[in-house]
Amino acid sequence: MDLNTCKKDIASLELTELTEYLAELSEETSVKFEKFRAKQIFSWLMKGVGDFSEMTNISARQREVLSEKCYIALPKIHQKFVSKIDGTVKYLFELYDGERIESVFMRYKHGNTICISTQAGCRMGCTFCASTLAGLSRHLTPSEMLGQILAAQNDTGERISNIVMMGIGEPLDNYDNSIKFLKLVNCPDGINIGYRHISLSTCGVVPGIYKLAQENLPITLSISLHAPTQEYRESIMPVARKWSIDELIKACRDYIDVTGRRISFEYTMIDSVNDSEECARTLVKLLSGMLCHVNLIPLNDVKERNFRKSNIKSIQSFASILEKNGITATVRRRLGSDINASCGQLRRDDSKASE
Ligand code: SAH
Repeated sequence: MDLNTCKKDIASLELTELTEYLAELSEETSVKFEKFRAKQIFSWLMKGVGDFSEMTNISARQREVLSEKCYIALPKIHQKFVSKIDGTVKYLFELYDGERIESVFMRYKHGNTICISTQAGCRMGCTFCASTLAGLSRHLTPSEMLGQILAAQNDTGERISNIVMMGIGEPLDNYDNSIKFLKLVNCPDGINIGYRHISLSTCGVVPGIYKLAQENLPITLSISLHAPTQEYRESIMPVARKWSIDELIKACRDYIDVTGRRISFEYTMIDSVNDSEECARTLVKLLSGMLCHVNLIPLNDVKERNFRKSNIKSIQSFASILEKNGITATVRRRLGSDINASCGQLRRDDSKASE
C-alpha cells in the first residue's frame, strides 16, 4: 500500500471516536452513515478485515466513501515460524510502508498469549538486546499494535486472551499510542481483553511510569531491571544514565501506592555480569518491602554481542537467595527456542539479508 497520509487510520479509532468521525463524514459527503453503522464497522475492524469490501452489511456507497477517505493498516505475514517443540508461532509482519516487526504467539494453560511490538526498532540501546541494534525506525500506531493480534488470530483460528507488550520497541517511548491501543483491545464491542490479562514492559522510562499510574488501568507493569546497582545497570542499559535506578525504584513505589498493583521485575541473567550471589543480595535490599515479583530470564544469546547466558546453578542460587528473603521469583520457561523466538532477532536477520 502507498503511504497516503491524507487518509484516516480508521482502525486506530475508539468506538466513540469512530461514531464522531462517521457523523463528520455524513456532513462532508453526500452519503449518510446511520448511527448504528459505527458499531458494525468497529466490529469488522476488530475482526481483522483487510479491506472495506469485506464489510458485507455496509452499503456499497458507504464502503466506497470509507475506502476513499480511510485505510486499514493490517500487518501482512511476511514470514512465519512454528516451533516443533511447543507450537509457539513467531511472525515477521510487514507494515504498509515495508517496515518489519515481530510478534510471538504462545499457548499456555491459562490461554493463548501474544507478545507484540510497539515500535519498528528501538532507541533504548540495551547492550544485550537485538531489537535496538539498528535504532528506531518509527513508532507503531494503535492499529498496528492491534493488527498483530488480529492477524495472528486469523492465521491460527484461535482466540488470544492475553497480551504482553514485550516485543520490539519501548511502549513508554510511544506513550499515547500504547495507551490508545490498551483502550481499543479492552473495548467490550471489540476483542474485549481484560486489563488484568495485559502486561506492559518498560526499560525504565520514569516519567511514563508516573503517567501510567494515573491512567487507572489495572494492567501488570513489568520493569526490565536487569541489575541491582546504578553502576551495573548503566553498564548494560544506557537508559539508566537518563533516569537513575533510585529514580526508577521511587517511581515503582509510587506506582504501587497509586494502583495497589504488584510490579513484575524482569532480570535477564548474564554470565559473570549480573548473576553473582552478591548481586542477588543487593537486589534483595533494593526491593525490600515492595509488592513485587522477580522473573529471572536466562539470556538469549545475541550473535552481535559477547554476552552468554548464566549457568543453571547460578540462576538457581540467585533465585533461592531472593526466595529466602521473601521475594517471590520464577525462572522464565523459554518457549520457541528452536525458532529464534527471542525479541528482535528476526527483524535484524531479515534486514541484514536485504542489505
Ligand atoms: N522495551 C521494553 C519491552 C521490550 S524488551 C523493555 O525493555 O522492557 C522485552 C524484554 O526482553 C525486556 O525485559 C528485555 O530486557 C528483554 N531482553 C532483551 N534482549 C534479551 C536477550 N537477549 N535475552 C533475554 N532477554 C532479553
